[in-house]
Amino acid sequence: ISEASSNVGDLLEELDEGLFNLLVEVGKVADDSGLNLYIVGGFVRDLILGVENLDIDLVVEGDGIEFAQKLVTELDGEIKESHQDFGTAIVNLNNGLKLDIASSRIEYYEYPAAPPQVEAASLKEDLFRRDFTTNALAIQLNSKKFGKLIDYFGGQEDLDSGLIRVLHNFSFIDDPSRILRALKFSNRYDFEIESLTRELIEHAIDQDVIKGLTTGRLGNELALILMEKVAPEILLDLNRFNLLKYFHPDLTWTEKEYNLALKVTNIKEWLEGLGIEEEVDNCYLYLMILVRSLDKDDIRDFLLKFKFPNDLVSKAIFVKEEVKEILNLLLQSRLQSTIVYHKLNDLSIEEMAYLALITDQPEVKEWIKDYLVKLRRIELEVTGKDIIELGHDPGPCFRRVLSKVKDKKLNGELDSYDDEYKYLKECLKRLEKGGKN
Ligand code: ATP
Repeated sequence: ISEASSNVGDLLEELDEGLFNLLVEVGKVADDSGLNLYIVGGFVRDLILGVENLDIDLVVEGDGIEFAQKLVTELDGEIKESHQDFGTAIVNLNNGLKLDIASSRIEYYEYPAAPPQVEAASLKEDLFRRDFTTNALAIQLNSKKFGKLIDYFGGQEDLDSGLIRVLHNFSFIDDPSRILRALKFSNRYDFEIESLTRELIEHAIDQDVIKGLTTGRLGNELALILMEKVAPEILLDLNRFNLLKYFHPDLTWTEKEYNLALKVTNIKEWLEGLGIEEEVDNCYLYLMILVRSLDKDDIRDFLLKFKFPNDLVSKAIFVKEEVKEILNLLLQSRLQSTIVYHKLNDLSIEEMAYLALITDQPEVKEWIKDYLVKLRRIELEVTGKDIIELGHDPGPCFRRVLSKVKDKKLNGELDSYDDEYKYLKECLKRLEKGGKN
């Protein structure tokens, strides 16, 4: 394939001015060092598609770490991390931008799904090790060639026609995580997976190559998928290609889970309509839906194995442990606000959103609404000071007494400071008598 050469300097100029100037500056630093410098990968893809992307991956034909050092002296910043073996560095600039810098390199796989061995190489070789044509584009940043698009593998054409295509037939054998990435990108951009690429995916799946991936890499890909806007669609694909079993044999994502996931948007709108400020993270809810069919121990094992964070583990287990009980409770007649308050007060916003998501009962949503907009905002007017003024020494009973008063207030039985004060006195009196108030 011959290298198509066009210039996308005009697209770069449409970027935020600070970012554009930075790219010009780093190009100049590369000029001074006599190195060829390129911006590569997702940034270039998204620039052409008109999608914002602030992940700046730079490739230097030469020593990436040395270049990073020069960069931080010339432009204000510091090297946050560097890896001698890979020739990579992360630079944090004082203007808040982050740059990933790498020496152009090739990677060898000693056996399928093995961690790659690295060796210095030309830009073309560096681009050839990438996953898809659309991710193997580069833009040169050196002053004289600023904005030159480098497209060895037909990436621009595939972007135009909306195709995900691998660069060679062993791509999925070398790195099976690309199968998941193909499904992610095709759904994210509404692209087709090119027909040979699709066959290669099917072939690789038949060969069970995914088994060779570490749980860390698999878990990472799943976490990235869950963060996508189109996660529900991607999960349908994972299910279609029978890939969920690599995470857990009992995981499924059928129309049922998919439809539930589509309701996440409605629930978020409902919460927003109530004026709730907390952000509900979709990925938590998608994960809670995904693990619904597993039992509690399996949920824990699955999430810990794939290194999901602990708070997520507890949210997911909530799905199994408490949901039924809380739903039943919220459907009881003559239920007191205090009880609802104490039950919902321990839940995260995602857990409440999940309750609202899976119920058809308006009463449940009413109680959640009541808790969120009213009950949790109720504060007492009386304080410990009042108790001291009533002649008591500070102590653990303060909290108990105040919480008694608060419970009564939550139930709507105390309307004013005077009401609270009167009830406070009653409680203290009972306490003094040693009664079991
Ligand atoms: P996103 O918008 O999801 O961040 P991205 O393309 O920037 O997409 P990254 O995972 O940040 O994705 O990777 C950056 C680049 O590194 C990719 O564009 C691609 O060129 C290359 N790359 C990433 N993962 C792989 C892989 N598994 N195999 C080959 N190349 C990869």
